[in-house]
Amino acid sequence: MSGPVEHAGAEPSPAVLAPFERRAGRALMLGHVHPDADVLGTLLALGLALEDRGWQVAYGGPHPAPAPLGFLPGIERYRRLTAIEGAFDVAVLTDCPNPQRTEGLIDQARRAAAVVVNVDHHPDNRRYGHVNWIDVTASATGEMVHELLAALGCALTPAIATNLFTAIHTDTGSFRYSNVTARTFRIAAALVAAGARPALVSEWLYERRAADALRWLGVALARVEVSEDGRIAWLALPAGAVPAGFVESEELVNYPRSVASVRVACLFRELDGQVKVSLRGKGDVDVQRVAAQFGGGGHPNAAGCTVGGPLAEATRGVLAAVRAAIAAAPGATERPPA
Ligand code: 5GP
Ligand code: MN
Repeated sequence: MSGPVEHAGAEPSPAVLAPFERRAGRALMLGHVHPDADVLGTLLALGLALEDRGWQVAYGGPHPAPAPLGFLPGIERYRRLTAIEGAFDVAVLTDCPNPQRTEGLIDQARRAAAVVVNVDHHPDNRRYGHVNWIDVTASATGEMVHELLAALGCALTPAIATNLFTAIHTDTGSFRYSNVTARTFRIAAALVAAGARPALVSEWLYERRAADALRWLGVALARVEVSEDGRIAWLALPAGAVPAGFVESEELVNYPRSVASVRVACLFRELDGQVKVSLRGKGDVDVQRVAAQFGGGGHPNAAGCTVGGPLAEATRGVLAAVRAAIAAAPGATERPPA
């Protein structure tokens, strides 16, 4: 290919469509570390659509799909990869802003594939593909892949629709966050018409807790702290305080976020001597900029980073940066809502 292609619109440009327009080929759907429903749902949806057109498709990434997403149609095809074998006409990454988040697989993908396509909605995307389609107005890459399939004229099967609906459902916090637009609902409606079942997806996502999960939730929530001014709430989990599988199956950071006065919520999770930090804002503080100070990234209202331990020190350092960001934010002198 000639130089890299960059496109920012809500609909795919001809250059974004071009790699998929051949009659059949070989595609690699490459996920990032700790894959969530947005990356898995979009890789599976696009891959299944290409397979319906006669393509051969491989799916995988540095980490396996988490067990709670075992209901996504086709997920059994997604493999943990330590190396990329074979040659591909196209390699696709979705929802992956940063090539480091593939643990080196992107470098192998570049050698193995004629074209690397980067489909993302993160503002801090590094444009590492031959084709970079970055639409920061999309609530989820699920919206973007819907538009891609529509432009390619691919049929939306119930399996494809379920994957895309779940991607959008999770990235919008069940259609609750500020990233939701009229387009989100328009696409969600099309996906339901094509066979996605909202009640089933909600049940699969949120009503499959293990019997002891509520007890662990109690243990975790007992650790929530709120700053004196009420603007920051956080939860610091020492290694082993609750089972790893439990933490991974819950969006624990949403609990401190739900306090009325809170502008920024944080989850600090100690793991293998490091601390995984999740940050959530409510629109007035850009938490992506806070995460970036610690080498992380994300969206203005949802970001993360990993910092060195011990837990108490990591918590202190990140909370200081959050406090500074709140002080610098517009409206910082306003009283928090009661
Ligand atoms: P979560 O808090 O759910 O892990 O992540 C929220 C958002 O922050 C996601 O968009 C995710 O891509 C981003 N994010 C989380 N952790 C990291 C990190 O360590 N590095 C970068 N660059 N982004 C992260
Ligand atoms: Mn996403």
